[in-house]
Amino acid sequence: MHYLTKKFKFAVKNFFLTMAAQAILLIVDPQNDFIEGGALAVEGAQKAMQALTDFLAPHPNLFAKTFVTQDFHPEDHCSFKEQGGTWPKHCVKGTSGAEIFPPLQAVLDQCQKIEYCKKGQSKDRDQYSVFDIQDGEITNEDGKKIRDYIKSVDTCFIFVAGIAGDVCVMNTLKDLIQFADKEYIAVYRNYTASLDGGQKLDDFCEENSIKIFSRD
Ligand SMILES: [Zn+2]
Repeated sequence: MHYLTKKFKFAVKNFFLTMAAQAILLIVDPQNDFIEGGALAVEGAQKAMQALTDFLAPHPNLFAKTFVTQDFHPEDHCSFKEQGGTWPKHCVKGTSGAEIFPPLQAVLDQCQKIEYCKKGQSKDRDQYSVFDIQDGEITNEDGKKIRDYIKSVDTCFIFVAGIAGDVCVMNTLKDLIQFADKEYIAVYRNYTASLDGGQKLDDFCEENSIKIFSRD
C-alpha cells in the first residue's frame, strides 16, 4: 500500500513536470512591499513565495515561458492614501519595496525564458491586472506581450500564482479569461497569498471553473 502511494505520488509529480514544460507560469507581484515587513504586507505571503521559490529552484527553466508582473508606481500614485486612494504607499519604482522577493529573484535569475511586466506606472491610473482591460481592449503594453505569447502557442496551460490573491491575482484572472480558455487556466493556491485568507479567490475560481492546485 505504502509503495503504491509512493508510486502514485511519483506519477503525479511527473505529470505536473511534463505539463509544466508546455505551460506558462504567470507570477503576479511577488514584491517586497506585499510580503511580511513590507508597506502593504499580506499575511502568509512570505511562506507562499518561499514555497514557490523552492518549487522552481531545482528547475528554473521548467516552464515554456515565465511572466512576472510588478506593481511599479510613481511617488504620487493615485492609489496611495496621501493621494486619496485606498492603499498605503507601496511598490514605488526604484525602491526596494518594488523589488522581487530576493530568494525568488535569485531563482528567476537562472531562468532564460522569462519576461518582467510592469503595471500601475501612470500616476492617474491603478492597474490591479497587468492586462487592464477596458471595453474589451488590453490597455497595458506589457499585458499585450503576454496576450500575444498566449495567442502564439497552441492550447497551453497557464499557471497563476502571486500576491494578493483577492486583489491583483483575481483581477488578472478576470482579464485573462476574456481572451484565454478557462479550461487551461489553473491557480497554484499554495503559491498565492490573500488579504482575506483566500476565500474570494476560491469563490471566483469555482464560479468560473478555474482549476485550483494545492501542491507543496
Ligand atoms: Zn499598487
